[in-house]
Amino acid sequence: MSRTFLITGGAGFIGSHLTDRLLAEGDEVVVLDNLSTGRLENLDDARRHPRFHFVHGSILDPLIVDEVLRDTDFVVHLAAAVGVKLIVEQPLRSLITNVRGTENVLDAAHRYRVPTLVASSSEIYGKNDAGPLAETADRIMGSPTVARWAYGSAKALDEILALTYNRERELQTIVVRLFNTVGPRQSPAYGMVIPRFVRQALRGDAITVFGTGTQVRCFGHVNDVVSAIIGLIHTEASVGEVFNIGNPANEITILDLAEEIIRRTGSSSTVKLIPYEEAYATGFEDMHRRIPDISKISTTIGWTPTESLEQILADAIEEASIEIAAGSG
Ligand code: UDP
Repeated sequence: MSRTFLITGGAGFIGSHLTDRLLAEGDEVVVLDNLSTGRLENLDDARRHPRFHFVHGSILDPLIVDEVLRDTDFVVHLAAAVGVKLIVEQPLRSLITNVRGTENVLDAAHRYRVPTLVASSSEIYGKNDAGPLAETADRIMGSPTVARWAYGSAKALDEILALTYNRERELQTIVVRLFNTVGPRQSPAYGMVIPRFVRQALRGDAITVFGTGTQVRCFGHVNDVVSAIIGLIHTEASVGEVFNIGNPANEITILDLAEEIIRRTGSSSTVKLIPYEEAYATGFEDMHRRIPDISKISTTIGWTPTESLEQILADAIEEASIEIAAGSG
């Protein structure tokens, strides 16, 4: 049966892919986005679709949120300030968006009894780099005066809100913790490492590795992430639960990632190590390793990611090459 989905932040990287998939599966999709970091071009295909509707507005506006939510069957709340660069540069705006915006969405969802999936972040684990991190792993946070930990705290608050609405007010909520996700349409503007390195390599610029480059991340392909979200939406057992979504198999140090991108693009670029205080601000902290344990989602919906790091890099290089050739990259 076809359903109507509201996707907040649907003009963003992950939201636009989710929109395309839901439309392809026969659902109706309403996107609410203020286009602050999202881009209408991400919805070029969707906008040609008769079952697609776009609303230009902010989750900070309770009247708009109320109006768009009233006639929907399911909300996927992705609108947020994301990207370490953005949240470090605009901490207050990020905090307000991530706390008040989520409250507005959950409040309206509760009013109309609309099940809601809330996107959280692996940032909530803070400096816990023991990895692979299960959903029950401790949060090890630095001082809230450091913008990064303030962001992690805001996302943790979003989770608590979503789960408390479920327990105390019987709103059906699901929380997903997204780990590093990559794929077409991801902008390099907000700090994400793969789109940045790929463009630097294709232009022959120095590859800006922050810190020592020994820090480890694993990267999930957006197609896998969208499959996971859709699987959870369709599974009753996911209600009231929190799930990690990421790809533990694609684990790599940032220095190896830089070298792999240089090799794959055949670039003449060299690696430039940049101290964190130059890259971000004084007092910035990074985590050494961040890897998800995905056994919970695998057991609940039978999901495992399938896209390799090779595929992720091939997609990123292809998209950036086209953009640069067209003069827009
Ligand atoms: N990074 C880097 N150079 C860049 C951008 C990011 O070395 O130009 C590093 C960053 O410090 C982090 C990793 O790459 O250790 C992943 O960064 P990203 O912002 O993509 O995601 P994060 O894991 O920090 O949320």
